[in-house]
Amino acid sequence: MAAPVSFPPNRDAALDRLQAFVLRAGVDYARDRNADLGPEARSNVSLLSPYLRHRLMTEREVVSAVLARHSFSEAEKFVQEVLWRTYWKGWLELRPAIWGRYLAELDAVRARFRGAKALASAENGTTGIEGFDDWARELVETGYLHNHARMWFASIWIFTLRLPWTLGADFFLRHLLDGDPASNTLSWRWVAGLQTIGKTYLATADNIARYTGGRFAPQGLTTSAVPLTEAPLPAVTPLLAPVSLDPDAPALLLVTPEDFHPESVFAQDRRFVQAIILADRGSGGALSEVFVAAAAHDCAGRVEAHFGCPTRIITGIDPAKLIAAAQDAQVTTIATAYAPVGHVADALRAATPVLQAAGIDLIQVQRAWDTHFWPHAKKGFFAFKEQIPRILGERF
Ligand SMILES: Cc1cc2nc3c(=O)[nH]c(=O)nc-3n(C[C@H](O)[C@H](O)[C@H](O)COP(=O)(O)OP(=O)(O)OC[C@H]3O[C@@H](n4cnc5c(N)ncnc54)[C@H](O)[C@@H]3O)c2cc1C
Repeated sequence: MAAPVSFPPNRDAALDRLQAFVLRAGVDYARDRNADLGPEARSNVSLLSPYLRHRLMTEREVVSAVLARHSFSEAEKFVQEVLWRTYWKGWLELRPAIWGRYLAELDAVRARFRGAKALASAENGTTGIEGFDDWARELVETGYLHNHARMWFASIWIFTLRLPWTLGADFFLRHLLDGDPASNTLSWRWVAGLQTIGKTYLATADNIARYTGGRFAPQGLTTSAVPLTEAPLPAVTPLLAPVSLDPDAPALLLVTPEDFHPESVFAQDRRFVQAIILADRGSGGALSEVFVAAAAHDCAGRVEAHFGCPTRIITGIDPAKLIAAAQDAQVTTIATAYAPVGHVADALRAATPVLQAAGIDLIQVQRAWDTHFWPHAKKGFFAFKEQIPRILGERF
């Protein structure tokens, strides 16, 4: 039997995986992608998510490589899936209060469920529910779950086990190597009926048996999924206008796990005095933090070679240390790739006034991909996906 898939935490591995998958990204992907035949049989999906999540490789690179080998109509399904990620990022960027709402609810339910047996057995995979228990263990052991398993797991967590969705989202975010504040939070909300208001996702034994090739057919799942409710959604907030970095100003480069490919954010001839690489994403559990820390080291090697500057790895965003590093390097600008809504953005927002008081500007440079796609995430994915061919054709 083949070994379960693993995710070497470096860009070369990501590029190799893309090359190996690209021919299967057309009609094969559209036909087979929903099957979860187990951790040893994942050739029907790309397994690129941990790399895309931390931008060891970019959405643009993946879509370009796929469209170089397939027509748009052949690869439409795959391209749309990659763009789901962009859509969720844009949706949350337009409604950052939903991230704050998730964190506040999580704090409240964590206190209520401290020591709760039902929560421990869901996370340890000892509920007795076939499939669900296997996915809980697979998640902790590998840091990955197939998309369909994520949907079934979230549905059983919310509607059969009746556990708070925020605790499930937190369990995923800690363990998934691709754990992402937007894709994860908004997918859990979608299953719960909060995202497409009133529309829930109900996992059934038949559907699970069909798409797991008969591996699992859990008994006793609930047959009704009544949507959760919440306060109305906040109004859309304007996106921040992209800012640019003075090409001549000496600057320190800050790289975070939101974007481990600064080589394609900043101009090739840009000279940085020093680069500081953040090696934790602020949300991780065991495996995901190991992945991020190793990916940070991979990034440091590339940054040194590309920008010709010394690098330093740090954990945690401590404004006092950033100020000391900027002062040592005699610069008043710290440049970083834009951090979208999530833990890193929260930490940067908290650090900004402290840096400013010390005369240091933090400049967050946005990728053109995000600048062009995010404004179209105001409504549902259907309206968003209509824009994909035009934006790809005109801009990328
Ligand atoms: C409850 C739940 C939680 C999820 N949490 C995350 C998360 O934290 N991080 C994350 O990246 N994805 C998340 N997803 C989406 C999806 O399950 C994963 O992106 C996908 O399974 C990754 O495997 P892959 O790379 O083989 O995907 P492929 O099917 O090969 O797709 C290619 C790429 O497209 C993107 N993508 C595919 N499907 C989706 C989707 N539904 N939403 C957003 N992006 C998508 C990913 O970047 C993925 O790498 C979640 C889905 C659910 C239902």
